[in-house]
Amino acid sequence: MAEYQINEHGYYGEFGGAYIPEMLFHNIEELKTQYLKITATDGFQKEYKALLKDYVGRPTPLFYAKRLSEKYQTNIYLKREDLCHTGAHKINNTIGQILIAKFLQKTRIIAETGAGQHGVATATVCALMGLECVIYMGALDIERQAPNVGRMKMLGAKVIPVHSGSKTLKDATNEAIRDWINNPISTHYIIGSVVGPHPYPDMVARFQSVISEEIKAQLLEQTGSEFPNKIIACVGGGSNAAGAFFHYLDNSNVELIAIEAAGEGINSGKSAATSVLGTPGIIHASKTLLMQTKDGQIIEPHSISAGLDYPGIGPCLAHLISNGRVKTHAVSDKESLKAAYEFTKLEGIIPALESAHAIGALEQLNFNKTDIVVVNLSGRGDKDLGTYLKHFSDSTISYPDTKNKA
Ligand SMILES: *Cc1c(COP(=O)(O)O)cnc(C)c1O
Repeated sequence: MAEYQINEHGYYGEFGGAYIPEMLFHNIEELKTQYLKITATDGFQKEYKALLKDYVGRPTPLFYAKRLSEKYQTNIYLKREDLCHTGAHKINNTIGQILIAKFLQKTRIIAETGAGQHGVATATVCALMGLECVIYMGALDIERQAPNVGRMKMLGAKVIPVHSGSKTLKDATNEAIRDWINNPISTHYIIGSVVGPHPYPDMVARFQSVISEEIKAQLLEQTGSEFPNKIIACVGGGSNAAGAFFHYLDNSNVELIAIEAAGEGINSGKSAATSVLGTPGIIHASKTLLMQTKDGQIIEPHSISAGLDYPGIGPCLAHLISNGRVKTHAVSDKESLKAAYEFTKLEGIIPALESAHAIGALEQLNFNKTDIVVVNLSGRGDKDLGTYLKHFSDSTISYPDTKNKA
């Protein structure tokens, strides 16, 4: 396991670390020295597990997708993170972090959000625990993601628009960091993916590792073996992938496949395929692969899916991709839409656009008839309905079954 896990300095190989301003030292040091101690206590474990079960709705099912399996002539299982409370895996992490905040006696929570999914998951657990919640969000994103802004407000969060820079996620992150520097004693900063300074990537990966813990037990029950041939997950920052891969990292017979957003094409200038386009650099206080100009300016990423629209990738994923343990594929905006329409008709499940990238990758992979394939269905598509309906008429899909019946 050691080869793929964080070392004592907070690095995965050459990636990771905590490149923080001096003024954040106290906050990060407190978290770094406490997170493993707190999560190891009986009190934490008991409360965390009870909330995952009765509040989030875990274990989420592992569903054998019969018609999808027929299409690809293999055996495809869906890990149903779309059935989590609030509609995606993100709440596994916010539940864990809010409990850490409580153990550290914090009274105030801050978070950044891009599309609003992490903001909603954070506002949800703050309401649950009765803690003050402040969400930083780019002014442009606030305009684009009105329904999630409404949810956060209804949950009692204060949503602060950020007007600097490109008015998007990276600017919101900068503001959240500024807030944390000014409120080091009262406040915990809940980061939403396996990104940011050590110990966040490791802490978030551990909270999301419940996904692969459950997959193991469920596969054993359904197939007689804990080990699939392939696990496929989409990657924005990398938290659902890190969670789905976690307990399989040491089993080299299990192929781990991460799917990035190609956007309008990897070389179109409008893409978020970080593992292909990225070079080592520092973003959000950690060393990782990121899309940047020769002068180190961050290149704005593009994806039709807001959750995959991130210019970096978690340092754990950067390491796993660099050393070949994880393979990547890129799926475009168009391919993900096509996959979403087709998948919905085949299985009766409307996937999040992010998850539709993982499904779209099935077209690029080869399977044996006896293979066991797990696709991590990271979220549900309600939030993407507007996008789906807008593109529905110009999609060129045909449904295999419908055609036969006509
Ligand atoms: C946020 C999000 C993602 C991307 O984030 P990761 O940290 O890479 O998992 C993927 N799917 C859904 C449904 C999301 O909300």
